[in-house]
Amino acid sequence: MSTEHKKYQIAVLPGDGIGPEVTDEALRVMRSASVCYGFEVDTPSYPIGGAALDAGQDVLPEETLQACSESDAVFLGAVGGPKWDTVAVEQRPERALLALRKALGVFANLRPVRVPEGFGSASPLKAELVDDLDLIVVRELTGGIYFGPDSTNDESAAKEGRAYSTMAYTRDEVARVARIAFGLARRRRSRVTSVDKANVLAVSRLWRNVVSELHSAEFPDIELEHLYVDNAAMQLVRRPRQFDVILTGNLFGDILSDLAATLPGSLGMLPSASIGDGRGLFEPVHGSAPDIAGEGLANPSAAILSAAMLLENVGEADAAAGVRSALNKVLASGLRTSDMHAPGTTLATTVEFGAAVAGEIAVVSGSRNGHSEKTEHSISS
Ligand code: NAD
Repeated sequence: MSTEHKKYQIAVLPGDGIGPEVTDEALRVMRSASVCYGFEVDTPSYPIGGAALDAGQDVLPEETLQACSESDAVFLGAVGGPKWDTVAVEQRPERALLALRKALGVFANLRPVRVPEGFGSASPLKAELVDDLDLIVVRELTGGIYFGPDSTNDESAAKEGRAYSTMAYTRDEVARVARIAFGLARRRRSRVTSVDKANVLAVSRLWRNVVSELHSAEFPDIELEHLYVDNAAMQLVRRPRQFDVILTGNLFGDILSDLAATLPGSLGMLPSASIGDGRGLFEPVHGSAPDIAGEGLANPSAAILSAAMLLENVGEADAAAGVRSALNKVLASGLRTSDMHAPGTTLATTVEFGAAVAGEIAVVSGSRNGHSEKTEHSISS
């Protein structure tokens, strides 16, 4: 066996509430994957959000930002909670997220939504509509109406009794996020649905033209469809399995990705990645869940799947596949955290669930390294 291991520097920001709990399990799984797939991870932790405020620091301390900018990837748990709801707006923990995304220059937010076969019953939709669902929303993250030029601010709106926010995109902004969506589709089922409002908005007509041009020039092998956002929302509820990669702008993506997030029935299953030209930011979709923090009730799957996205992004695709496969096997064995517990399944704490996935990686990788958690927690022979 080669002794030359790749080593990845990962800045870990556990944050608040269940953030540290699910992060611990994601790291346990990542370390297991590193042993089984032959690479090293260095995972120092840094303060962010309410935890940073409590330590007398800024919500996004300079030291944390510096460490992130020197790392290969950034892993975040979650930030926020009622304890900090009364602090000044600029010191709110959630502010740290926006500042971090901006500092990392991540312009595409990726949210996969998967419902394994047989898991549709947890969905608010009919089980047969979502069983075996596998789609990903690619949302433009740093442009569009949230950052539009010439928008009124609260002060002038109050003075003039008139407010407007502008949606603006440039060719380059559209092309770079579209390229990510087409690239993803090539590794999946080769289908992109671009969502806009081109029947009404000039900015959407530019969006549509740029996506179509890029498709013809660089990705003719991918099937491309354009949908208006109102139709896309309806189709996501009526027939979600028709989608592979959904590509859309910041505002439409914000809404559609939350709609898609309801389909599996638990927030604890949804990972995300925000990527750009440099290092990416990987975090579960859920928040800090203060209602269940510290009780071992949190589902670490979203964090574990975010770790898988991180591994794929740094170039460890086999390890990422191993993590996903291990998680699926643990779920198939009937182990469940409290959010997904149902009659006939076995209740596990956050730690028990994470340890089971970490142990299963040794099995799915066929590792001969004798990883210590294999014998303790492996759930299949
Ligand atoms: P939330 O996602 O924290 O929780 C919503 C509900 O889902 C709660 O009932 C919670 O118990 C449950 N839940 C969430 N994650 C779970 C998991 N992994 N396992 C089991 N159950 C889970 O959303 P919220 O309650 O609206 O927000 C709580 C705090 O988190 C707020 O301060 C909010 O601003 C912050 N927040 C942070 C992020 C982030 O860090 N990216 C995202 C959303 C909200």
